Amino acid sequence: MSQTGFTIWFTGLSGAGKSTISSVLERKFHERGLKFEILDGDVVRTHLSKGLGFSKEDRDTNIRRIGWVCEVLTRNDVIAIAAAISPYRDIRDEARARIGRFVEVYVQCPIDVLAERDVKGLYKKALAGELKNFTGVSDPYEAPLNPEVVCYTDRETPEASATRILNFLEAGGWLHPLNGRGVSEPQAVAQS
Ligand code: ADP
Repeated sequence: MSQTGFTIWFTGLSGAGKSTISSVLERKFHERGLKFEILDGDVVRTHLSKGLGFSKEDRDTNIRRIGWVCEVLTRNDVIAIAAAISPYRDIRDEARARIGRFVEVYVQCPIDVLAERDVKGLYKKALAGELKNFTGVSDPYEAPLNPEVVCYTDRETPEASATRILNFLEAGGWLHPLNGRGVSEPQAVAQS
């Protein structure tokens, strides 16, 4: 069955849940037999963007590279999932304009909850003033103004967030809805 490419662009603070929700989506997309690729911010920084730091210039370069890969995947009818902080609105909007078929998902979580989670122990250091350029504490984060989906990870499970994203994709005709047997219904999808 044919598949049309698009990009799911996660944005949000470190530890908000971008990778976790991507992993849930990964399982759901896999079950549907969809072709997709995840570009996780931490992973990208170990190869595609190895050597880049956290200045605005380096962050912009990192996000533009991720955007370019998403653009190529989308053009070739693969679903691209970007899961990087992507703190600057103008660079995200640039990616949106270039890619076209673009679903921005804002993974939102209050900073006090993030500091409590502190998966990598970085919030404690940043809040103590020991870490420069830490997004949301000592570096800017520009929240999206009109994201297609917002995930509230202090109030919903990763599974619930991923299900809401799937529902949005099906309602908007980005994905074929499943019929009762777990098989996609091609005729049910709006052609765009
Ligand atoms: P990011 O990719 O945004 O940096 P991660 O997904 O790596 O964030 O880390 C999020 C952490 O928060 C994980 O340890 C995850 O288990 C935890 N967590 C707790 N509740 C949620 C939730 N509702 N959604 C996503 N992550 C959650």
